Amino acid sequence: MTPEEFRRHGKQVVDWIADYLAGIETHPVLSQVKPGEIRQALPASPPERGEPFESVLSDLGRILLPGITHWQHPSFFAYFPSNASGPAILGDLLSSGLGVQGMLWVTSPACTELETVVVDWLAELIGLPERFRTDAAGGGVIQDSASSACLVALLAALHRASGGRVAAEGIDRRYTVYVTSQTHSSLEKAARIAGLGAAGVRVVDVDPRTLAMDPSHLRRLLAEDVAADAVPAMVCATVGTTSTTAVDPVPAIGQACREHGVWLHVDAAYAGVAAICPELRWLNDGVAEYADSYATNPHKWLLTTFDCGVLWTADRAPLVGALSILPEYLRNAATSSGSVVDYRDWQVPLGRRFRALKLWSVIRWYGAEGLREHIRKGVALAAELAEQVGTDPGFELHEQHPLGLVCFRPLWPGLDAAAADRATLRLMELLNASGSMYLTHTKIADRVVLRLAVGAAATERRHVEQAWAQIRWERQALAATLP
Ligand code: PLP
Repeated sequence: MTPEEFRRHGKQVVDWIADYLAGIETHPVLSQVKPGEIRQALPASPPERGEPFESVLSDLGRILLPGITHWQHPSFFAYFPSNASGPAILGDLLSSGLGVQGMLWVTSPACTELETVVVDWLAELIGLPERFRTDAAGGGVIQDSASSACLVALLAALHRASGGRVAAEGIDRRYTVYVTSQTHSSLEKAARIAGLGAAGVRVVDVDPRTLAMDPSHLRRLLAEDVAADAVPAMVCATVGTTSTTAVDPVPAIGQACREHGVWLHVDAAYAGVAAICPELRWLNDGVAEYADSYATNPHKWLLTTFDCGVLWTADRAPLVGALSILPEYLRNAATSSGSVVDYRDWQVPLGRRFRALKLWSVIRWYGAEGLREHIRKGVALAAELAEQVGTDPGFELHEQHPLGLVCFRPLWPGLDAAAADRATLRLMELLNASGSMYLTHTKIADRVVLRLAVGAAATERRHVEQAWAQIRWERQALAATLP
């Protein structure tokens, strides 16, 4: 493709995206295709001869679009939001256009240095302490996801706990990590990848009402494990759990970590960016004093197209110690001088995209004020919905947190718990099959609960109101059909 051809098709693509976003409400939120349907509609073998780009665009609309679940739809209330925004999409396009690979500082100095600047900006915006800034001993780095961030944090924690032995000799004794039943599954995956096995994962009790970690149980487990000659390597506290956005008590957890010399990782994948609003800064209470690492995902609620997760550490030495290997073919004068950051040493893969461009575009386009406005809109709409759910006799509201997620249970008088859970899941299926919204579920105290996450960039009050009206209506209609 010549630059002129690129210009022509590039304009078509930008028009396609703009039309798609402008007309997104015409699509069913959740794709309605059956398994295999998209694959069957596509040729089994690749074309021998090149095709016009128009054919790609036409097949995108005709074949692929029906198989798309529309995450940017204003009635997308499933999981957590995964915001895309104009400046982020354009920043990503520019990154692809430059096509640079920022594994080392020397392979594109601007890729590294812009990243350092934007992660420091974001640290300032969400009130992270000075020691997480790159000019101090720590620093931030953009990862593809919070899952990678927690794996990398665990590897750094193991490096510190073992005095570097894990990197040299592997896992030579029992190292333990501490989670709760509410911690994201990526922690367990990280423990498996790191070779700790299930025996290395200790599950700390939660408060049955708030679902937040019980620090006194953490202390007991830490003491038991030390007595049994295990080495506690890392505690993961979550600020905004995946299931219900519960917030673990970081100050009390941090105090226990400090007494035992254990690495504290704070997983704030979803909720951390909300601390950009001064009234939500409390979410990060205890982080400044105690956290060794902290992760949040601008690719969830901060208008930055997937993928963009940021990890900060207060001390980059164990991170680099755990991950740095310098083969001859990567040696260069800048690295040898010790005066540059090579982000390849802060992540699992070697290669890395210029992700900082999209975060930079987002922060510059919206400014801190615009970003706060977006978070506040989601928080306000969720609070209004929670108020309505809480006062409706047909529903029970689960402990509400001042973020964008509302968790609730429809009530089914006369049904036992198992039948009521089946009815709740059936209600969710009906709502999602209608195409007019998408929401998901979780379990709390072994009961099925619906989760409605507000936070897509296009969501307005009317979308939440429509969803709530439909949920109430469908519950009544379904209840009328039950024995
Ligand atoms: N941690 C928490 C608290 C999450 O809610 C999630 C995803 O929702 C993750 C980690 C994993 O995020 P990612 O998809 O970026 O790996």
